Amino acid sequence: MIDFDYVKARDVSDAVTQIARDPTARFIAGGTNLIDLMKENVARPTRLIDITGLPLTKIEETEAGGLRIGALVPNSDLAYDERITKRYPLVSSAVLAGASAQLRNMASTGGNLLQRTRCLYFYDTTSACNKRDPGSGCDAIDGFNRMNAILGWSGACIAVHPSDMCVALAALEATVHMTGPKGDHAIPFAEFLRLPGDTPEIDTNLAHDEIIIAIELPPEGFSRNYSYLKIRDRLSYAFALVSVAAALKLEAGAIKDARIALGGVAHRPWRVPDAEKSLEGRQPSREAFGEAADILLQGAKGFAHNSFKIELARRAILRALEQAAAGTPQSQSVKAIV
Ligand code: SF4
Repeated sequence: MIDFDYVKARDVSDAVTQIARDPTARFIAGGTNLIDLMKENVARPTRLIDITGLPLTKIEETEAGGLRIGALVPNSDLAYDERITKRYPLVSSAVLAGASAQLRNMASTGGNLLQRTRCLYFYDTTSACNKRDPGSGCDAIDGFNRMNAILGWSGACIAVHPSDMCVALAALEATVHMTGPKGDHAIPFAEFLRLPGDTPEIDTNLAHDEIIIAIELPPEGFSRNYSYLKIRDRLSYAFALVSVAAALKLEAGAIKDARIALGGVAHRPWRVPDAEKSLEGRQPSREAFGEAADILLQGAKGFAHNSFKIELARRAILRALEQAAAGTPQSQSVKAIV
């Protein structure tokens, strides 16, 4: 373990001031990922700024009819909040599919967005990893890459984002609110997490001197026809090989609006608007869902140990959409036998 200073932020403004004057400082909330990274010598902050005392722990109604979730709302509180379970059950299902009860009790909503990949080589400091050590190479490309990406990867990095909650937030088109020295601003969730490109060391579009203050959910929660299907190697406490957040709005039996986001396959939740548009106005059917899956997976390319994910993802998309259309969401994650 490295030496570091520890301070507690008095308020949001103090947190921003403190992080802005120290490029090697990091915020800490639940610490469910950062402490692991520090133990493994992957993250080496010289100063931890504890933000657990900041007033960002409420879930509030918005004027638009949605919900604003404070960045420090614990994942467990979020998953079991009645407004979430009734109006945004896709979010609740996704959160409960992730980690363990103990971790969900500690992990914050904002921190969930900022957790780093669980690529094996990222945590092994004897391996080449462009994300941990830019310019060093990527041992995952020719290594054991079962958990790695099949979409949106680059020659520099084939890691995937580990969050389940983020897959649901992407499907629902949430907004991320943040603040920094230049004041408050908000960006669509789709622009928050980045693809690796030539700079895999940068996971998000949050600047070092900014802090997430809230996540906003729009009014439409797709609470009648949704499913979060997560397929993984163990039934609990494992990251997704593939996950699907599917949400449909049905009118007179036809699809009026559709949302599909994939987890476990790319550096950020994977959405393709054309796949969703292809379903609009159609009756729910295996044929229509198959066409949407083909559009979503266009360009997918696997590596030595993860090409199976392409067909797995296609089948998972079909199943999640069929569950959503029938109003019978997946109630338990699925163990992969591949
Ligand atoms: Fe590092 Fe990304 Fe390669 Fe994994 S896939 S070893 S995180 S550069």
